[in-house]
Amino acid sequence: MKILRLQVPHWDQFDGLVHGFLGRVGGQDRPPNAAFRLSCDDGDDAAAVKQNWCELKQALGLPRITIITAKQVHGDTVLQVSRGDGKLARVGDGLMTDAPNLCVGVMAADCVPLLFVEPARKITAAVHAGWRGTAAGIAARTVALMKEVYRIDPAALHVAMGPSIGPCCYEVGPEVEEQIAANWRQELKGAWRPEGVKGRLDLRALNEAQLLGAGIPQTQISKVGPCTACHIGDFHSYRKEGKSGHQLSFIGWRS
Ligand SMILES: [Zn+2]
Repeated sequence: MKILRLQVPHWDQFDGLVHGFLGRVGGQDRPPNAAFRLSCDDGDDAAAVKQNWCELKQALGLPRITIITAKQVHGDTVLQVSRGDGKLARVGDGLMTDAPNLCVGVMAADCVPLLFVEPARKITAAVHAGWRGTAAGIAARTVALMKEVYRIDPAALHVAMGPSIGPCCYEVGPEVEEQIAANWRQELKGAWRPEGVKGRLDLRALNEAQLLGAGIPQTQISKVGPCTACHIGDFHSYRKEGKSGHQLSFIGWRS
């Protein structure tokens, strides 16, 4: 199985870290949408989904790693997960863990996937931030929770944002701008370009501003991969294609 897997080049200095922002992958497709399904949310066949996960982990060379994902609802809930949680899906748009041989993952198709790592303590998190989650400040909330739960120093955190819709393709209405500006007026300045009554939103720039505000050094924030809507050959894009599928982003430590 051919897999497009983007990684943060300088994260290879963190021995034992496994991570990736995946693109479209082929597998047990079910017509009419030829998408590699990793979730049963859309009424997909559970056995096919399970088989897809097995094939994917084999292809990644991580057959024994558990990848935990949550039921995403465009909210700001960040779950603390550990080995005993198995594959049980709870509702949340962010997951964090300090357990070895356990990856946390999020699914996205235009929304921003964010991967967090505190390399000395081997603590990781994965977050899904569309405009609603970004307006709710899920990236900043993740930093605050990692501080509270694991006592990490934000200055020691590294964060990468994966392929997601760029300002080139993300035109939104004034109601979106208003809801974001209610909490992030200052941060929005560098991420919003007005065009008539509408405007173009740079979700990654807005998340970056939130991360900087949360105390993460600029040099430890990376952006990986292109605009999903500009590259539908490699990535799913909800804006460009409607309901099609999602790509997985994941992170964890191999012991
Ligand atoms: Zn684009």
